[in-house]
Amino acid sequence: MSCSTKKNEYDTIEAAEVALIDARIRYMGNSAVNAYQCELCGLWHLTSKGEVHAKLQEMIDSGELDDEIKKYEWRERYGSID
Ligand SMILES: [Zn+2]
Repeated sequence: MSCSTKKNEYDTIEAAEVALIDARIRYMGNSAVNAYQCELCGLWHLTSKGEVHAKLQEMIDSGELDDEIKKYEWRERYGSID
């Protein structure tokens, strides 16, 4: 199924939440803040507007997101240790 919003689609809110946090870790400058259920396709998309997702906000506040970004950058640069 392809939604006319042209956004990535996720079957479940859980998948969208994982993708939301993953996007923030992997893509510098990614501004996605939450997931929402689309009125057109019924699936889940990410959005950069509105309230910040509670789990994402928690990760930002605790510094966990920054840690994950650093880990990701390290892996990208030097590869996995194992
Ligand atoms: Zn849609």
